[in-house]
Amino acid sequence: MKISKIPNEFQEALPILRKIEQAGFEAYFVGGSVRDTLLGRPIHDVDIATSAYPSEVKSLFRRTVDTGIEHGTVMILDHGTGYEVTTFRTESGYQDYRRPDHVKFVRSLKEDLKRRDFTINALAMSENGQITDLFGGLADMAAHVIKAVGDPNERFNEDALRMMRAVRFASQLDFKIEANTLAGISRHSQLLEKIAVERIHAEFVKMMMGKDAKRGLDLTLITNLYRHMPGFASKKAQLQAIATTGFSVQNEVQVWALLAFYFNDHSEQIKRFLKAWKSANQVIEDVILTTELLFKMTADDVSNWDLYRAGQRNVQNAVTILNAGGTTSFSDYLNDYDQLPITNKKQLQITGGELIKAGILSPSPLLGQTLNYLEKAVVQAEVTNEKQALIAAVSHFVNGDD
Ligand code: ATP
Ligand code: MG
Repeated sequence: MKISKIPNEFQEALPILRKIEQAGFEAYFVGGSVRDTLLGRPIHDVDIATSAYPSEVKSLFRRTVDTGIEHGTVMILDHGTGYEVTTFRTESGYQDYRRPDHVKFVRSLKEDLKRRDFTINALAMSENGQITDLFGGLADMAAHVIKAVGDPNERFNEDALRMMRAVRFASQLDFKIEANTLAGISRHSQLLEKIAVERIHAEFVKMMMGKDAKRGLDLTLITNLYRHMPGFASKKAQLQAIATTGFSVQNEVQVWALLAFYFNDHSEQIKRFLKAWKSANQVIEDVILTTELLFKMTADDVSNWDLYRAGQRNVQNAVTILNAGGTTSFSDYLNDYDQLPITNKKQLQITGGELIKAGILSPSPLLGQTLNYLEKAVVQAEVTNEKQALIAAVSHFVNGDD
């Protein structure tokens, strides 16, 4: 098979392939970029594989960086954006179910493609668009199938992350996992415990945001992978309920908030859960705010103050999650947010400094409490955000006579 028009993303890298070939070596585009080209999907990282050894690659170009030299990867900077060129290699060892103990550089494309995880990821494309397909990747792509290269049991034993990748690709591409490959995942699901949480996290979030996320989640349940993910072992019923209802989430915060909502988790539980997943603090904070809104929106008990505290992006997160779940639209909450009297404390028409200057208050804890009171009163539309009204409200608050 030959691609007639190589997408633009590859154009800048063509001189690199040509130069390597002119020196008597082989060079190909490989991996996700070839797969995505054939599927008509957007291309991100363009990876190049070559028969030239790293030192040979480096001698051919003027500007290179050793980005992963021990694995054979060199970044070439001679032509526009950097392109990573990796020497054909075989891997062996895998004592720890995740990383090869030995990487051996080889001259054979076939050997390199053989170590790749799935047949659709084991395709190579030459500089003229010719596809090399040694493991039936094109047929599997046409049949919408994720299939391990070689024996799935061996492949998942070598690197257990591949099981997560299979489920992630099934969701992203809307593909089925081939029967033997699926059986291999079910058989080896417990090996997931050998894998760093950060790597499981990255695959899980991509899976949940995929085109057929419902299938992805079903697959994590059917294969028992879920049992080996942080905090999921006792949540089978809830995960099933999410998969059954169907869902559509667009970012990481939405992924976790959806789960927390079904788990009926609140602040501290969410924090513990997401720490176990090694989520970033900002994500944890947003998930807590979004999840609180989910509880309140579904109970039809949302105040202006709730919307204000959550902030625009978390109101959007909650609305997106709920709108995907059923026939009711929750979009009105976005308008409610837009109509808040203020969306930020700085928008108050009076400052602490002005209250001090006017002799109404002195620098003290009471000043902070007063400003907090004003913030909430304005958000809740109990006090107008105008200087005179604010000053009047302050004296009521301070004198306790309201
Ligand atoms: P994405 O679109 O997410 O980048 P990708 O398939 O390109 O998907 P990468 O992690 O960028 O994933 O890897 C590039 C290529 O390296 C893959 O297409 C596959 O050929 C190979 N690969 C990546 N991870 C593994 C793995 N764990 N085991 C075997 N081969 C792998
Ligand atoms: Mg990639």
